[in-house]
Amino acid sequence: MTIALVTGGNRGIGYGIVRRLANEYPSSAVGASGSPLTILLGSRTLDNGQKARDSILSELASSAAKVTITPLQLDISDPESIKRASAEIQSRYADQGGIDVLINNAGIALDGFDADVIRNTMATNYHATKHVIKSIPVRDGGRIVNVASMAGILRGYGPEVTQRFLDAKTEADVDAIVADYEADVRNGHCQDKGWKSAAYSTSKCALIAYTRILDADYKKAGKNVAVNACCPGYVNTDMTKGRGVKSIDEGAATPVHLALQDLKGVTGEFWENSSVSKW
Ligand code: NDP
Repeated sequence: MTIALVTGGNRGIGYGIVRRLANEYPSSAVGASGSPLTILLGSRTLDNGQKARDSILSELASSAAKVTITPLQLDISDPESIKRASAEIQSRYADQGGIDVLINNAGIALDGFDADVIRNTMATNYHATKHVIKSIPVRDGGRIVNVASMAGILRGYGPEVTQRFLDAKTEADVDAIVADYEADVRNGHCQDKGWKSAAYSTSKCALIAYTRILDADYKKAGKNVAVNACCPGYVNTDMTKGRGVKSIDEGAATPVHLALQDLKGVTGEFWENSSVSKW
């Protein structure tokens, strides 16, 4: 059995990812084994997860995988919820050594800019995503896809901040950058310390930096997990308030490519339009 978990799968790009996983799986490199596909549809409320599951099942292409979509209560900001989801996965799929694909799609974009917005944005987009990665076992040979953003590319910071991101070698290094960002903004030093007044962008920049570090750590540990970050494009969802230009199906293309297609061994990179892109 192939098992994929999509966080925030109940609406927006996450919904598109679940639907696209099912549609693309049969003709993909991962689906070539012919093993049945189970998608765990992560959702903050089970009710929303069940509604999304029913809706997706009703609109799958006739060529789609014979797929089981199982809603999973998962609020990535709630450590208890992550713990329960992890225990459920470990007890259900104990013999598999972990899931095959983890797609970290859940994320937020808050209005306004101050130290509290930074704190709250980082809590979900950076810290909570890391917590999920550390808690949900992904089997050897599996994949992790972190849905970041073009907004997270390393541009527009002062030279010192840019260098800190580039030099970050450990998770603690990235945590320290994130903590200093919040502290500097709280103390009125956003501009003179070379930060951007953009909590969302910097949270995605930190997520991409962490993706690279995680990949290096896996390689050092001899663990064969492909971990990549990507931008889905500018997608028409609640987050973009009708301004996005891509459909959720188009937005799902790159995350699903990273989950299912032959990546030719590429890992630890930032992708857009299903190709490696400069961070
Ligand atoms: P939406 O706001 O439309 O949907 C966000 C999804 O994430 C919802 O399912 C929401 O659940 C879920 N979510 C938010 N916080 C949590 C949490 N703490 N725990 C679990 N689930 C949570 O956003 P999009 O679909 O547009 O965005 C999806 C991802 O793509 C995000 O990471 C975003 O940053 C990224 N992205 C989006 C772009 C775009 O153009 N739309 C561009 C670049 C990146 P609920 O329904 O319960 O609120």
